[in-house]
Amino acid sequence: MSARAWFVAAVAALVATLAASPLAADPATDTAFQRAFGERFFDRYWQLTTDAAIVNGYYRYADSLRVPDAAERATRLEQLDRWLAALGRIDTARLSASLRADWAILDSQFRGERWALTEQRAWQWDPSTYNVATGFAMLLDRTYAPLDERLRTFGKRLANVPAYYAAAKATVATPSREHTQLAIEQNRGALSVFGPELERTLAGSGLAPNERATFTTQLTAARAAIEDYVTWLEALDARLASGAVAPRSFRLGRELYEQKFGFDIQTGVTAEQLYENARAEKARLLQRMGVLADELWPKYFPNLASPDDELVKIGRVIDALSLQHVTRERLVAEVEAQIPELERFVREHDIIDLDPTRPLMVRETPLYERGIAGANVESPGPYDAQAPTYYNVTPLDDLSAEAAESWLREYNRWMLPVLNIHEAIPGHYAQLVYANRSPSLVKSIFGNGAMIEGWAVYSERVMLEAGWEDHKAEAWLIYSKWNLRSVSNTILDYGVHVLGMSEAEVMSMLTREAFQTEQEARDKWKRVSRTSVQLTSYFAGYSAILALRAELQRGRGDAFDLKQFHEQFLSYGNAPVRVIRELMTER
Ligand code: ZN
Ligand code: ZN
Repeated sequence: MSARAWFVAAVAALVATLAASPLAADPATDTAFQRAFGERFFDRYWQLTTDAAIVNGYYRYADSLRVPDAAERATRLEQLDRWLAALGRIDTARLSASLRADWAILDSQFRGERWALTEQRAWQWDPSTYNVATGFAMLLDRTYAPLDERLRTFGKRLANVPAYYAAAKATVATPSREHTQLAIEQNRGALSVFGPELERTLAGSGLAPNERATFTTQLTAARAAIEDYVTWLEALDARLASGAVAPRSFRLGRELYEQKFGFDIQTGVTAEQLYENARAEKARLLQRMGVLADELWPKYFPNLASPDDELVKIGRVIDALSLQHVTRERLVAEVEAQIPELERFVREHDIIDLDPTRPLMVRETPLYERGIAGANVESPGPYDAQAPTYYNVTPLDDLSAEAAESWLREYNRWMLPVLNIHEAIPGHYAQLVYANRSPSLVKSIFGNGAMIEGWAVYSERVMLEAGWEDHKAEAWLIYSKWNLRSVSNTILDYGVHVLGMSEAEVMSMLTREAFQTEQEARDKWKRVSRTSVQLTSYFAGYSAILALRAELQRGRGDAFDLKQFHEQFLSYGNAPVRVIRELMTER
C-alpha cells in the first residue's frame, strides 16, 4: 500500500470507530478498558522502557538497564501485539468519550511503536539511539529517595552498561553521517555523568566500603564502554566519510515520512496537505507583513524612502522594532510582572477561566537545569502530582554581551509577551491545568505533541485577536514573524526529508524569507538533519485548531461561544486534535 493510501485507510478505520453510535456508552465497558490498561499495564510498560520510566518519575525498575539486542526487540514486539489484541477486544462504541480518546491514543501509540521497530528501524541506522546518560543523570538529580538508596540503584543499573554498548555495536549498520556525529557528540557528553562529580558524591555517601568498591569497579567498566563506543563511532564515521562504507541519507524519504507523520501528528491531514497549507499560509503572512511594514515605515524611518524589495523592507522594520527591549538585568523581573497582566487580560476578555487556586510561580531556572537561554513551564510528572509548577526563566548571566543583545533583540518588547503567552498564559500552563482536571495517565504519558504545541501557538493568535497590545501594527508585525517560524518549520521539515531541500536553500529561506539570524538558521538546519516530523507539530496543531473553530462557528452561528470552545477543547486532555474534533462534533 502506498503511504498515502495506508494513511487514509488507517484514519478512516479510526474515525469510523470513534463516530460509531456514541449514545450507547456502557459503564461495564469502561471498567473493562480501565482494568486492561490501568496500573498493571503501565507497570509492564515501564518495565520494558526503564529510561522513559525514570523520566516520568516511575522508579520501580530503575535498577535495571535493558540491553537493546534482537531478543529485546522481539520481546517488545510480542508485547505490543498482545496489547493491540487487547484493544481490539474493547467495543469502542460503548466507551465513554474520555476513554474513547484514551483508546485512540493507545492504539496509535502501539501501532507507532510497532512501526518504528519493524519499518522505520532507527535502531539500525541512528547510533544516537544508544545513550545511557539520561536515566543515570536523573537518578542523581531527583531527590525521590535518600541519596544512599539512589546510589545503590545507580550501582545496580551500571552492571549492564558494557552489554548495552556491545549490543549497540552489533546492531548499528549503515548509519547516516549526521546521526553518527550526533551520537559521538552526545555520548561524549554522557561521560560527564560518570565523572569526578559522581566520585565525590560517592565519597560523601553512607555506602559501606565494600559497596563503594563494587560501585567503583562497575563505574570504571561503564566509562570504558562509553569511551569505546565513541572510538568505534569515530572510526565508523571516517569510513563513511571516505566512502569505504556507503552512508545512509539522513532524509527520511516520502513513504516513511508520511507514515511517521500519520502516527505522531494526527490532526486529520496528510503531511503533503500540511506542506501545501504551510506554503499558502506563508504567502498570506508575508503579504500581511508587507502591509504592516508600509504602515510603520514613516514612523520609524521618517526621512527615508522605503526599499522596493518587500522582504528587505519588512526586515528593516522588524530590526527597528527589535531595538526596543528590556535590559538583561531586568529580564526575570519583567517576565514576573507580565504574568498577572496576562491573567487579567484573559479574564477581562473572556478567553478562558483560569484556576485562581493554581497560580503560576515564576523563578530563575535552577542552575542544574540551565541549558539554552529562554523560559519554560516545568510541570510535575503524573507520578508526582503534588509538586509545584514553575515558570523557569533563565537569566542571561552566562552569555557574552553580544549574545545577550542578540537574545534581547529577538525577545524584544513586542516579542517577550508572545513568549509568555505561548509558554504560560493562556498557552502551555493553562492547558496543563485543564488537562490535570480530568487525570488520565494515558493522556499525560502519551500526550499528543501537535495538540500541545498547537494549543500554545493558537493561544498567541487568540490574544492578538482579542486586542492584546490594542491591535497595534508593531505587535501584529512581530507576532507574524514569530508565527512565520512555525510555518517555516513545517515547510523545511517536509522540504528537507521528502523533497531533498539543500542546506543552502534552507539557510536562504530562513534568513531572507523568515527574517531569522544566521545562527538561528544554522541551528535549525542541525535540528532538521537529526529529527523528523516534530518540527511540523506547531503549525499542524495550530492550523487544525483554527479549522475546528471555524467549523464550529459555521455550525453554531451566533450561538458560538469562544470561551466555551476553549474550555471544552482543553477538557479532553492531551488527546490528538483529530480525536477531539470527533468528540466535539458528534451529536
Ligand atoms: Zn539593544
Ligand atoms: Zn511550546
